[in-house]
Amino acid sequence: MTTVIHMKEQTVKSKSKAETQSLAFRLGEILSKPIVILLKGDLGAGKTTFTQGLAKGLGITKTVNSPTFNILKLYQGRMQLCHIDAYRLEGIHQDLGFEEYLIDGEGVCVVEWPMYISDLLPKEYLEIEILNETEDNRCIHIRAIGEDAQKILEEWL
Ligand code: ADP
Ligand code: MG
Repeated sequence: MTTVIHMKEQTVKSKSKAETQSLAFRLGEILSKPIVILLKGDLGAGKTTFTQGLAKGLGITKTVNSPTFNILKLYQGRMQLCHIDAYRLEGIHQDLGFEEYLIDGEGVCVVEWPMYISDLLPKEYLEIEILNETEDNRCIHIRAIGEDAQKILEEWL
């Protein structure tokens, strides 16, 4: 049996915080099915900034901020947004109940620092890696793994 893995990649540039947020806003606007979005990039790359735009696109009016001290936060919009920041989970292998959002999720689940919970991640997802070029310029690499993620990427960009 052969398994076909749907994968698609694209790169976009952002010149400001507002540009990153509007890119993310457009993604939030088109989402209508559960999806996991992995956000990679150094501290200060713009992962939380991206999540803020995404949340607005999902119709969330509450301010999204870094969940570093909470690890997981839930917001209610057109769909539920689960925002996980796994930064402080490096080397910690504990059942934190994230599967509810990562595997059988009913909403959108955004994960900052996904490498720290790599054994909990689903097989299909949208991955967004933000690279700092200058103080305000970012290179945003997007990879869609799986058919649903690929469809989203096609509609988004
Ligand atoms: P992370 O969650 O990746 O640690 P944050 O989103 O909290 O990063 O912070 C990103 C910082 O970079 C913010 O202070 C934001 O204003 C700034 N910034 C400057 N240019 C950009 C850009 N093009 N895209 C996103 N953030 C930017
Ligand atoms: Mg952050």
